Amino acid sequence: MTTASGVLTAGLYLSSGIQNQVTQAQHELDAHIASGPDGRCLNCGQDEPCSRRQEAVRAFARYGQLPRRRPGLARVRPSGNRTGGLGRR
Ligand SMILES: [Zn+2]
Repeated sequence: MTTASGVLTAGLYLSSGIQNQVTQAQHELDAHIASGPDGRCLNCGQDEPCSRRQEAVRAFARYGQLPRRRPGLARVRPSGNRTGGLGRR
């Protein structure tokens, strides 16, 4: 539900200022979610979870929000050296 100045999300009213911070946190999270084979953030090079990702997660927690997950963004590494890791259930 959208009003003139904010969004009602799961019963919580978010002012447009807070909404902007949540949106910003989502951008930060998206930018710092992927890590390379050495376990470091592909964006800033820190060990994951990097400080900017942690900051974004804290922002979501502060406002009682959950980040949106985008399939494929985390670039989950397939375990190539194990047989049957992905196909078998
Ligand atoms: Zn990072």
